[in-house]
Amino acid sequence: MRQKIIDKRRDPMGWAIYDYYYKGKAAKLKVISEDFEDDYIPVSELFRGFEQMTQIEKEALRLAEGAILDVGAGSGCHSLALKEMGKDSLAIDISPLAVEVMEDRGLNVRMVDFYDDSIVATFDTILMLMNGTGIIGGVDNMERFFSRLSKLLNPSGILYIDSSDLRYLYEDENGSFFLNIADKYYGEMEYKMKYKNIEGDWFDWLYIDIGTFSYYATKYGYNVELVVEGEHYDYLAKVTRAGE
Ligand code: SAH
Repeated sequence: MRQKIIDKRRDPMGWAIYDYYYKGKAAKLKVISEDFEDDYIPVSELFRGFEQMTQIEKEALRLAEGAILDVGAGSGCHSLALKEMGKDSLAIDISPLAVEVMEDRGLNVRMVDFYDDSIVATFDTILMLMNGTGIIGGVDNMERFFSRLSKLLNPSGILYIDSSDLRYLYEDENGSFFLNIADKYYGEMEYKMKYKNIEGDWFDWLYIDIGTFSYYATKYGYNVELVVEGEHYDYLAKVTRAGE
């Protein structure tokens, strides 16, 4: 499979990270979706330190050990926090601009797609944070995701990944839940980002409830356990090989 690396001219998040790091400020980073109103990611949040992180992130960083892979590392905030804790990680990202910033921050970085098989090392801990299941894209990609995970994780290795159950978007005030069963899974989103005049491509981004995630994990030889629940239907999951 060809490696997917983002073109700099179509990398809004990369430019936001780049500007914030080198100029100390950044414009608004807009998130566009067909189903919801435009949203904004405060760029400073991509540079959050350990103290500003959520319980989910703090717990994942505390639990991480051994050789650690930080997938979709962005500005490198998690790898930097790990380094401060005396832990070693390899940060990977498909944004050349994010990778440049992470290199300048003194991190161990590679510009590589999680799904590309050029990473031959294996890891004791893999971290996928800030809706880490986003990189799975959709439920149809679960098989490919778990097969890639099998190549990267040591036999007794652990993946810590966070997500949220988007059912609250479909609940009415009585808590009833309306969904059309014939529709795609309700956590499958499609987004596009925009920063200044730089617009990215549409990309698939998956949010998944722990029950559905666990169903797919079992199907492909893994176990999912809940580690911590966040404040808004979000959670951190521990994913291990079944039988380990
Ligand atoms: N983990 C960081 C950044 C989250 S944003 C944080 O919590 O702040 C998601 C990041 O994943 C982006 O930087 C994006 O470029 C990267 N990404 C998306 N798909 C990827 C893939 N297939 N392989 C590696 N990185 C990916």
